[in-house]
Amino acid sequence: MPDRNASEIARETLKLLTSRRLVPSPENYQALWHEISGTRVSAPFPDEHLQRISEALPAQQGGQAEAVGELQRAIAARNWIAVQKALVAYSSLANTALSAAPERQPSLPPAITQPLFSGELREQIARLIDTVLPAVGGDDTRIAAQANDLSAYLRQSAPETAVLKSMLGNFSFRLDFVAEEQTTVRQMLLEVLQLIFRNIAELSVDDRWLSGQVEALMAAATPPVTVRRLDDLQLRLKDVIFKQSQAKDRQLQAQAEMKQMLATFIERLSSMTDASSLYQGKIENCARQIEEAKHLSDIAPALQEALGATRAMAKEAGFARDELRQLRERTTQAEQEVNRLQQELDRASTQARHDPLTGVLNRRGMEETLLREVAAAQRRELPLCLAMLDIDNFKRINDTLGHSAGDAALVHLADVARSCLRPQDLLSRFGGEEFVIVMPDTTLDQGIEAMTRLQRELTKRYFLRDNDKLLITFSAGVTQLAADEKSSDALRRADEAMYLAKRAGKNRVMGG
Ligand code: GH3
Ligand code: MG
Ligand code: MG
Repeated sequence: MPDRNASEIARETLKLLTSRRLVPSPENYQALWHEISGTRVSAPFPDEHLQRISEALPAQQGGQAEAVGELQRAIAARNWIAVQKALVAYSSLANTALSAAPERQPSLPPAITQPLFSGELREQIARLIDTVLPAVGGDDTRIAAQANDLSAYLRQSAPETAVLKSMLGNFSFRLDFVAEEQTTVRQMLLEVLQLIFRNIAELSVDDRWLSGQVEALMAAATPPVTVRRLDDLQLRLKDVIFKQSQAKDRQLQAQAEMKQMLATFIERLSSMTDASSLYQGKIENCARQIEEAKHLSDIAPALQEALGATRAMAKEAGFARDELRQLRERTTQAEQEVNRLQQELDRASTQARHDPLTGVLNRRGMEETLLREVAAAQRRELPLCLAMLDIDNFKRINDTLGHSAGDAALVHLADVARSCLRPQDLLSRFGGEEFVIVMPDTTLDQGIEAMTRLQRELTKRYFLRDNDKLLITFSAGVTQLAADEKSSDALRRADEAMYLAKRAGKNRVMGG
């Protein structure tokens, strides 16, 4: 109501004071006057508060007392411009004192010490986090998200110290994990390198192994390099080295055997040729004598000689036949020996950690890996889930479609599981048509959810056999490892839960 005159506004102000039952103080009158006239309320001069602040300011150092006196005079005069001047003068005194004599800092009263997280310090921390992030969080999305949140919060104009402290605490906790993981990665990389060198040294007989290893190496050298992938690579190389040394021995043995047989054969062949050309000469000589003979009595010695030569030749041939038979027997023996060695090698390959059919870890490989995973989960106090999975009515697939179809179904299940589980989950063929899956950093609910997802995925990705679509289902038991529990106990629980899933009608997942 700007067009009203002052006396009207004053009258209305008094009316409002009464109707609102307010104390008729100058402050209340002033506030209502501005409300009615629509003008801006000018804040009262806070001389009392300012005076208290001026008294709290330290005044021991040279020049400080004067500056504080100046400030107090400006407050008494209710002069904002003079207050500002006095404060600026005081603060420039404080800066000079701090930079000129830092050793005096401890004697300064707490009123002018730096706050716990000054703006500049916060910016420095934020920049530090931004700089180190690529080195620590490249493959760890969780720490990357934490770092981004923290750096954004540090750059807010007024972050809360308590929140900041808790965020920094969580971040450094996670950083600890990452650092530990990186140390292990480095250590294992070295171990893997040593294995490769040993392996190359063994490579002298058959270079097919080399190409296989180079492939595995290339796969492992593709980021992200995780401890689990390196561990897998290490296990594979161990298997290869073992098999390779066996194969090399076998091959060398077979080669030596063949060489020896070949030498005997050549020797025999040349002696036979020598003998037969000798006999041939004798026979030809006889034939000439017979041709030239005038009397029967001349023929008799020639015939005698020819007969003798033929007999000797037959004897020699008999020797050769016997020797050849012996050679054949030795070849058969060598062949049997190679077969025996092959079988031995197959048996030895059960010492390997991977299942040759599906390529996933075998029972031995899983037991070794499980030890490490359980120890890591317990050390880090993170949950860990185990799932035992058994294909439903597998015998029927074998019976109706044949054993090789059964094998292909196992490969199919392993492929689907591999593609729908997280990279850090570990899949193993525990026996026959049973699989065990280890899921690190996973609670029971999440573990059940993962197995249900695999179940759904199998209904989408049919197993194809001779153009027939076949639905493979499984029953699974999932359990979460309890604190300080042995993996064998948790596995038994998962197995029991799987058994319950079978009894409840199959094609289901049960927690245990
Ligand atoms: P359930 O639903 O109760 O699990 O019945 P099932 O038929 O799946 O189970 P059962 O234990 O009766 O039969 C498992 C079959 O799996 C028997 C065995 O011959 C077969 N089997 C085990 N290992 C292999 C393998 O490597 N390849 C093939 N093709 N079959 C296998
Ligand atoms: Mg079974
Ligand atoms: Mg089964």
